[in-house]
Amino acid sequence: MQQAANLIKSRENILIMTHKNPDGDAIGSVLGLAHGLESLGKKVECFSKDTIPKIFDFLPNVSKIKNQTIYEKYELVILLDCAFFDRTGIENIKEITSSFSDILIIDHHPKDKTGCDYYKKCIFIIDPKASSTAVLIYELLKKTGIKITKDIANCLLTGIFTDTGGFQHDNTDSKSLKAAAEFMKKGSRVDKITKNIFSNKSMAAIKLWGIALSRIKTDPETGMAVSYVSKKDIEDFGAKEEDLSGLVNVINTISDAKFSLLLTESGNNKIKGSLRSENYKGIDVSKIARSLGGGGHKLASGFEFDGDLQNNIAKISEIILKSNQDINYGL
Ligand code: 5GP
Ligand code: MN
Repeated sequence: MQQAANLIKSRENILIMTHKNPDGDAIGSVLGLAHGLESLGKKVECFSKDTIPKIFDFLPNVSKIKNQTIYEKYELVILLDCAFFDRTGIENIKEITSSFSDILIIDHHPKDKTGCDYYKKCIFIIDPKASSTAVLIYELLKKTGIKITKDIANCLLTGIFTDTGGFQHDNTDSKSLKAAAEFMKKGSRVDKITKNIFSNKSMAAIKLWGIALSRIKTDPETGMAVSYVSKKDIEDFGAKEEDLSGLVNVINTISDAKFSLLLTESGNNKIKGSLRSENYKGIDVSKIARSLGGGGHKLASGFEFDGDLQNNIAKISEIILKSNQDINYGL
């Protein structure tokens, strides 16, 4: 933390980046940190390859996050909510990272790969016990002597609130609640975040959720509850891919299932998988995600690869069946 704080203070032009398909923690952390660094007079730019979902429009200065930049011009690049630049979804990442001078990586996912060419240029703040990247940003801002404003509080509370599922998941801890209390003192409101993010659905979205929920199957062999949404479903309902955010958590409320999976046909011929489980079930879904080329946390992880559902469902089932032998961690 101290090393990271010193690095930040000594650099003027800073780029903040995050992973593709950015979620509330990624977006809240990027904006919270950007506001903080700007209060020190730094020149800050923010990057996300994918467009920011509309539900985050209420966050202060969200339009500051751009989907293009000239990577070579920054003295410091900060990567948030993931530990590897390939998660940003940018092409030519090897070339781009070789042009970076200093790198700071802040993340709360277990680091499941080692060594990259750019790792010798990095300072890391990686804490898999942290509920969110936002709570790590809060600690870093305090260490850097930055005053927490209402704007910063709104952004960081959104990160903590979304990654803990509204303080419901097992990663909800006293550090996060203490930070949240401080953010509320600055004027942030949990009800406002809930309204914008969790209770802001269109009719099309709810009907699409209905179709996906009606399709849930449970697999006796693996204990999995699974459903899917095709590209055609999304089009037929006039919905958007971002409308599916949160749906897997509803599938995960089936107490008899050991874990849940939502498969979505996304963007340009891609399949996205979201996996969830609950602490009391003793299952580590990140092992399944990793065997399908993704990653994440023990109880919330995901993967993405090229293809359509029709032609890949057999392969996905086979891999899940195989990794399933290995996902029990015991209680
Ligand atoms: P979600 O299901 O909400 O998209 O993602 C849940 C968790 O899994 C998040 O912590 C996210 O960072 C991680 N995750 C989702 N997709 C991928 C992926 O393709 N690769 C990796 N490494 N992690 C992912
Ligand atoms: Mn996160």
